[in-house]
Amino acid sequence: MPKQTRSSTATLILFILLWAPIQLNAGEQKAGPIQASYSAEQVAPSTYVIHGPLAVPNPENQGFMNNPAFVIGDSGIIVIDAGSTVQVGDMVLEQISTVSDLPVVATITTHVHGDHWLGNQAIAETYPDAKHYAHPAMIEQASAGEGQSWVDQMRALTNGASAGTVYLPPDTTTDDGAELKIAGKTFRIFHDPVAHTDNDITILLLDDSVLFLGDTVMNNRVGRLDDGNFKGLIAFLDRMLTVDAKVYVPGHGATGDRQVVEDFRNLFDTIYSTVAEQYDNGLADFEIKPIVEDRINDIATWTDLKQALGKLVSLAYLEAEEDAF
Ligand SMILES: [Zn+2]
Repeated sequence: MPKQTRSSTATLILFILLWAPIQLNAGEQKAGPIQASYSAEQVAPSTYVIHGPLAVPNPENQGFMNNPAFVIGDSGIIVIDAGSTVQVGDMVLEQISTVSDLPVVATITTHVHGDHWLGNQAIAETYPDAKHYAHPAMIEQASAGEGQSWVDQMRALTNGASAGTVYLPPDTTTDDGAELKIAGKTFRIFHDPVAHTDNDITILLLDDSVLFLGDTVMNNRVGRLDDGNFKGLIAFLDRMLTVDAKVYVPGHGATGDRQVVEDFRNLFDTIYSTVAEQYDNGLADFEIKPIVEDRINDIATWTDLKQALGKLVSLAYLEAEEDAF
Protein backbone atom coordinates (compact mmCIF):
# COMPACT_ATOMS: atom_id res chain seq x y z
CA MET A 1 0.00 0.00 0.00
CA PRO A 2 1.47 3.41 -0.89
CA LYS A 3 2.40 5.45 2.16
CA GLN A 4 -0.19 8.15 1.48
CA THR A 5 -3.06 5.64 1.24
CA ARG A 6 -1.86 3.81 4.34
CA SER A 7 -1.91 6.95 6.44
CA SER A 8 -5.29 8.05 5.13
CA THR A 9 -6.63 4.54 5.84
CA ALA A 10 -5.28 4.84 9.37
CA THR A 11 -6.93 8.23 9.72
CA LEU A 12 -10.20 6.80 8.45
CA ILE A 13 -10.04 3.89 10.91
CA LEU A 14 -9.25 6.28 13.74
CA PHE A 15 -12.16 8.47 12.67
CA ILE A 16 -14.53 5.49 12.63
CA LEU A 17 -13.28 4.28 16.03
CA LEU A 18 -13.76 7.73 17.56
CA TRP A 19 -17.04 8.65 15.96
CA ALA A 20 -18.88 5.42 15.18
CA PRO A 21 -20.36 4.97 18.68
CA ILE A 22 -21.60 8.55 18.70
CA GLN A 23 -23.16 8.16 15.27
CA LEU A 24 -24.86 4.91 16.29
CA ASN A 25 -26.30 6.57 19.38
CA ALA A 26 -27.33 9.61 17.39
CA GLY A 27 -29.19 7.48 14.85
CA GLU A 28 -31.16 5.44 17.36
CA GLN A 29 -34.78 6.06 18.15
CA LYS A 30 -35.21 8.48 21.05
CA ALA A 31 -36.94 6.86 24.02
CA GLY A 32 -40.05 8.50 25.51
CA PRO A 33 -40.16 11.36 28.02
CA ILE A 34 -39.76 11.08 31.80
CA GLN A 35 -43.00 9.59 33.16
CA ALA A 36 -43.00 10.49 36.85
CA SER A 37 -43.87 14.07 37.66
CA TYR A 38 -41.26 16.23 39.30
CA SER A 39 -41.45 19.85 40.23
CA ALA A 40 -38.97 22.68 40.53
CA GLU A 41 -38.74 23.88 44.13
CA GLN A 42 -37.78 27.49 44.71
CA VAL A 43 -34.94 27.41 47.26
CA ALA A 44 -33.91 31.10 46.98
CA PRO A 45 -35.30 34.19 45.17
CA SER A 46 -33.93 33.24 41.74
CA THR A 47 -32.93 29.60 42.33
CA TYR A 48 -34.91 26.43 41.70
CA VAL A 49 -33.96 22.78 42.28
CA ILE A 50 -35.60 19.65 40.89
CA HIS A 51 -34.80 17.03 43.52
CA GLY A 52 -34.32 13.67 41.80
CA PRO A 53 -34.88 10.17 43.21
CA LEU A 54 -32.11 8.69 45.38
CA ALA A 55 -31.92 5.25 43.75
CA VAL A 56 -29.26 4.42 41.17
CA PRO A 57 -30.39 4.61 37.51
CA ASN A 58 -32.99 1.94 36.75
CA PRO A 59 -35.89 1.42 34.30
CA GLU A 60 -38.41 2.88 36.81
CA ASN A 61 -36.61 6.20 37.41
CA GLN A 62 -35.52 6.26 33.73
CA GLY A 63 -32.02 7.16 34.89
CA PHE A 64 -33.04 10.32 36.73
CA MET A 65 -31.24 10.58 40.08
CA ASN A 66 -29.54 13.96 40.56
CA ASN A 67 -30.59 17.48 41.53
CA PRO A 68 -30.73 19.67 38.40
CA ALA A 69 -30.97 23.35 39.35
CA PHE A 70 -31.61 26.55 37.47
CA VAL A 71 -31.08 30.21 38.16
CA ILE A 72 -33.23 32.92 36.61
CA GLY A 73 -30.91 35.71 35.48
CA ASP A 74 -31.86 39.13 34.09
CA SER A 75 -31.63 38.07 30.45
CA GLY A 76 -31.42 34.29 30.56
CA ILE A 77 -31.34 31.09 32.58
CA ILE A 78 -28.32 29.25 33.92
CA VAL A 79 -28.71 25.47 34.44
CA ILE A 80 -26.51 23.60 36.91
CA ASP A 81 -26.18 19.83 36.35
CA ALA A 82 -28.87 19.20 33.73
CA GLY A 83 -29.24 15.51 34.59
CA SER A 84 -28.45 12.04 33.28
CA THR A 85 -30.15 11.76 29.89
CA VAL A 86 -31.61 13.83 27.06
CA GLN A 87 -35.05 12.93 28.49
CA VAL A 88 -34.10 14.41 31.89
CA GLY A 89 -32.75 17.52 30.11
CA ASP A 90 -36.12 17.85 28.29
CA MET A 91 -37.92 17.59 31.65
CA VAL A 92 -35.66 20.30 33.10
CA LEU A 93 -36.54 22.59 30.18
CA GLU A 94 -40.22 21.88 30.76
CA GLN A 95 -39.87 22.82 34.43
CA ILE A 96 -38.04 26.01 33.51
CA SER A 97 -40.90 26.96 31.18
CA THR A 98 -43.32 26.85 34.13
CA VAL A 99 -41.51 29.77 35.79
CA SER A 100 -39.82 31.73 32.99
CA ASP A 101 -39.91 32.44 29.24
CA LEU A 102 -36.22 33.39 29.14
CA PRO A 103 -33.77 31.30 27.07
CA VAL A 104 -31.12 29.10 28.68
CA VAL A 105 -27.82 30.91 28.12
CA ALA A 106 -25.43 28.63 30.02
CA THR A 107 -24.97 25.34 31.82
CA ILE A 108 -22.46 24.65 34.57
CA THR A 109 -21.49 21.02 35.16
CA THR A 110 -20.04 20.03 38.54
CA HIS A 111 -18.07 16.92 37.49
CA VAL A 112 -17.67 14.18 34.90
CA HIS A 113 -20.14 11.62 36.27
CA GLY A 114 -22.78 11.31 33.56
CA ASP A 115 -25.81 11.41 35.85
CA HIS A 116 -25.04 15.13 36.20
CA TRP A 117 -24.52 16.36 32.65
CA LEU A 118 -25.74 14.17 29.78
CA GLY A 119 -28.95 16.23 29.94
CA ASN A 120 -26.96 19.18 28.54
CA GLN A 121 -27.80 17.67 25.13
CA ALA A 122 -31.44 18.82 25.44
CA ILE A 123 -30.28 22.34 26.27
CA ALA A 124 -27.75 22.43 23.41
CA GLU A 125 -30.39 21.23 20.96
CA THR A 126 -32.94 23.83 22.07
CA TYR A 127 -30.48 26.68 22.69
CA PRO A 128 -27.48 26.21 20.35
CA ASP A 129 -25.87 29.46 21.56
CA ALA A 130 -25.71 28.42 25.22
CA LYS A 131 -22.24 28.14 26.76
CA HIS A 132 -21.35 25.02 28.72
CA TYR A 133 -18.94 25.45 31.64
CA ALA A 134 -16.91 22.77 33.48
CA HIS A 135 -13.47 22.18 34.97
CA PRO A 136 -10.77 21.52 32.29
CA ALA A 137 -10.17 17.98 33.60
CA MET A 138 -13.90 17.26 33.33
CA ILE A 139 -13.95 18.35 29.70
CA GLU A 140 -10.83 16.34 28.92
CA GLN A 141 -12.14 13.14 30.53
CA ALA A 142 -15.64 13.54 29.07
CA SER A 143 -14.10 13.73 25.58
CA ALA A 144 -11.60 10.93 26.16
CA GLY A 145 -14.07 8.12 26.87
CA GLU A 146 -16.00 8.95 30.06
CA GLY A 147 -18.83 10.55 28.10
CA GLN A 148 -19.44 7.52 25.91
CA SER A 149 -19.00 5.16 28.83
CA TRP A 150 -21.75 7.01 30.77
CA VAL A 151 -24.06 7.02 27.75
CA ASP A 152 -23.63 3.23 27.49
CA GLN A 153 -24.03 2.66 31.23
CA MET A 154 -27.22 4.73 31.35
CA ARG A 155 -28.74 2.83 28.47
CA ALA A 156 -27.89 -0.54 30.05
CA LEU A 157 -29.07 0.42 33.56
CA THR A 158 -32.36 1.91 32.34
CA ASN A 159 -33.05 -0.86 29.86
CA GLY A 160 -33.04 1.63 26.99
CA ALA A 161 -35.05 4.43 28.64
CA SER A 162 -32.17 6.83 27.88
CA ALA A 163 -31.98 5.90 24.17
CA GLY A 164 -31.24 8.91 21.99
CA THR A 165 -28.82 10.37 24.54
CA VAL A 166 -25.38 11.35 23.21
CA TYR A 167 -22.62 13.07 25.11
CA LEU A 168 -21.73 16.67 24.36
CA PRO A 169 -18.65 17.66 26.38
CA PRO A 170 -18.86 21.20 27.83
CA ASP A 171 -17.02 23.80 25.72
CA THR A 172 -15.89 26.44 28.22
CA THR A 173 -13.40 25.89 31.04
CA THR A 174 -13.61 27.36 34.50
CA ASP A 175 -11.48 26.75 37.58
CA ASP A 176 -10.85 27.58 41.22
CA GLY A 177 -11.26 31.26 42.00
CA ALA A 178 -13.14 32.17 38.83
CA GLU A 179 -16.10 34.52 39.06
CA LEU A 180 -18.51 33.97 36.21
CA LYS A 181 -20.88 36.79 35.42
CA ILE A 182 -23.77 35.35 33.45
CA ALA A 183 -27.09 37.07 32.70
CA GLY A 184 -26.54 39.53 35.55
CA LYS A 185 -25.71 36.83 38.14
CA THR A 186 -22.32 36.13 39.70
CA PHE A 187 -21.06 32.58 40.29
CA ARG A 188 -17.88 31.92 42.29
CA ILE A 189 -16.12 28.64 41.44
CA PHE A 190 -14.25 26.38 43.88
CA HIS A 191 -12.01 23.43 42.97
CA ASP A 192 -9.43 21.39 44.87
CA PRO A 193 -7.10 18.81 43.26
CA VAL A 194 -9.23 15.92 44.47
CA ALA A 195 -12.50 15.51 46.39
CA HIS A 196 -15.34 13.29 45.07
CA THR A 197 -13.33 13.22 41.79
CA ASP A 198 -10.35 15.20 40.48
CA ASN A 199 -12.62 17.49 38.47
CA ASP A 200 -15.33 18.67 40.88
CA ILE A 201 -16.31 22.29 40.98
CA THR A 202 -18.71 23.75 43.51
CA ILE A 203 -20.54 26.94 42.69
CA LEU A 204 -21.57 29.81 44.94
CA LEU A 205 -24.31 31.99 43.50
CA LEU A 206 -23.45 35.24 45.25
CA ASP A 207 -26.76 36.98 44.50
CA ASP A 208 -28.81 34.31 46.31
CA SER A 209 -26.12 32.97 48.68
CA VAL A 210 -26.69 29.43 47.38
CA LEU A 211 -23.85 26.89 47.27
CA PHE A 212 -24.20 24.12 44.68
CA LEU A 213 -22.06 21.26 45.94
CA GLY A 214 -22.29 18.64 43.18
CA ASP A 215 -21.38 15.22 44.55
CA THR A 216 -18.89 16.57 47.07
CA VAL A 217 -21.98 16.44 49.32
CA MET A 218 -25.04 14.20 49.24
CA ASN A 219 -27.92 14.14 51.69
CA ASN A 220 -29.19 10.80 53.00
CA ARG A 221 -27.00 9.05 50.45
CA VAL A 222 -23.28 8.16 50.53
CA GLY A 223 -22.61 7.52 46.85
CA ARG A 224 -19.19 6.27 45.88
CA LEU A 225 -15.66 7.56 46.20
CA ASP A 226 -13.93 5.41 43.56
CA ASP A 227 -12.72 8.49 41.66
CA GLY A 228 -11.73 10.59 44.67
CA ASN A 229 -10.25 10.06 48.11
CA PHE A 230 -11.17 10.55 51.75
CA LYS A 231 -8.55 13.07 52.78
CA GLY A 232 -9.11 15.25 49.71
CA LEU A 233 -12.88 15.16 50.18
CA ILE A 234 -12.70 15.99 53.90
CA ALA A 235 -10.28 18.87 53.27
CA PHE A 236 -12.54 20.24 50.53
CA LEU A 237 -15.60 20.01 52.78
CA ASP A 238 -13.73 21.88 55.52
CA ARG A 239 -13.15 24.58 52.93
CA MET A 240 -16.84 24.52 51.93
CA LEU A 241 -17.76 25.01 55.60
CA THR A 242 -15.89 28.32 55.53
CA VAL A 243 -18.19 29.51 52.72
CA ASP A 244 -20.94 31.35 54.47
CA ALA A 245 -23.93 30.46 52.29
CA LYS A 246 -27.60 30.48 53.24
CA VAL A 247 -28.67 27.49 51.14
CA TYR A 248 -26.71 24.32 50.34
CA VAL A 249 -27.74 22.20 47.35
CA PRO A 250 -26.25 18.68 47.43
CA GLY A 251 -25.74 16.55 44.29
CA HIS A 252 -28.35 14.09 45.55
CA GLY A 253 -30.94 14.38 48.33
CA ALA A 254 -32.71 17.30 49.97
CA THR A 255 -31.43 20.89 49.94
CA GLY A 256 -30.71 22.34 53.38
CA ASP A 257 -28.45 24.50 55.49
CA ARG A 258 -24.78 23.96 56.41
CA GLN A 259 -25.78 20.92 58.49
CA VAL A 260 -26.02 19.00 55.19
CA VAL A 261 -22.29 19.59 54.66
CA GLU A 262 -21.41 18.90 58.29
CA ASP A 263 -23.27 15.55 58.30
CA PHE A 264 -21.60 14.35 55.11
CA ARG A 265 -18.17 15.51 56.27
CA ASN A 266 -18.60 13.83 59.64
CA LEU A 267 -19.64 10.54 58.07
CA PHE A 268 -16.57 10.41 55.82
CA ASP A 269 -14.29 11.64 58.59
CA THR A 270 -15.61 8.96 60.98
CA ILE A 271 -15.09 6.22 58.38
CA TYR A 272 -11.58 7.37 57.50
CA SER A 273 -10.31 8.13 60.97
CA THR A 274 -11.65 4.81 62.31
CA VAL A 275 -10.04 2.86 59.47
CA ALA A 276 -6.71 4.71 59.84
CA GLU A 277 -6.70 4.16 63.61
CA GLN A 278 -7.48 0.43 63.31
CA TYR A 279 -4.98 0.03 60.45
CA ASP A 280 -2.35 1.29 62.88
CA ASN A 281 -3.60 -1.31 65.35
CA GLY A 282 -2.88 -4.00 62.75
CA LEU A 283 -6.46 -4.96 61.92
CA ALA A 284 -7.56 -6.14 58.45
CA ASP A 285 -10.31 -4.27 56.57
CA PHE A 286 -12.96 -6.95 57.22
CA GLU A 287 -12.21 -6.69 60.95
CA ILE A 288 -12.48 -2.90 60.82
CA LYS A 289 -15.88 -2.77 59.09
CA PRO A 290 -17.97 -3.73 62.19
CA ILE A 291 -16.11 -1.12 64.26
CA VAL A 292 -16.95 1.55 61.67
CA GLU A 293 -20.56 0.33 61.57
CA ASP A 294 -20.76 0.76 65.31
CA ARG A 295 -19.47 4.32 65.20
CA ILE A 296 -21.73 5.51 62.41
CA ASN A 297 -24.84 3.94 63.94
CA ASP A 298 -26.82 7.17 64.20
CA ILE A 299 -26.65 7.79 60.45
CA ALA A 300 -26.80 4.15 59.39
CA THR A 301 -30.28 4.64 57.94
CA TRP A 302 -28.94 6.44 54.87
CA THR A 303 -30.37 4.80 51.76
CA ASP A 304 -27.25 3.17 50.33
CA LEU A 305 -24.93 3.07 53.34
CA LYS A 306 -25.26 -0.67 53.98
CA GLN A 307 -24.25 -1.63 50.43
CA ALA A 308 -21.61 1.09 50.12
CA LEU A 309 -19.82 0.68 53.43
CA GLY A 310 -17.71 -2.39 52.60
CA LYS A 311 -16.24 -0.69 49.54
CA LEU A 312 -15.71 2.61 51.37
CA VAL A 313 -13.86 0.81 54.18
CA SER A 314 -11.65 -0.95 51.60
CA LEU A 315 -10.90 2.37 49.87
CA ALA A 316 -10.12 4.02 53.22
CA TYR A 317 -7.89 1.07 54.08
CA LEU A 318 -5.88 1.45 50.85
CA GLU A 319 -5.56 5.17 51.48
CA ALA A 320 -4.40 4.61 55.09
CA GLU A 321 -1.92 2.01 53.83
CA GLU A 322 -0.57 4.42 51.21
CA ASP A 323 -0.26 7.09 53.88
CA ALA A 324 1.74 4.78 56.11
CA PHE A 325 4.53 4.59 53.51
ZN1 LIG B 1 -20.55 11.84 41.05
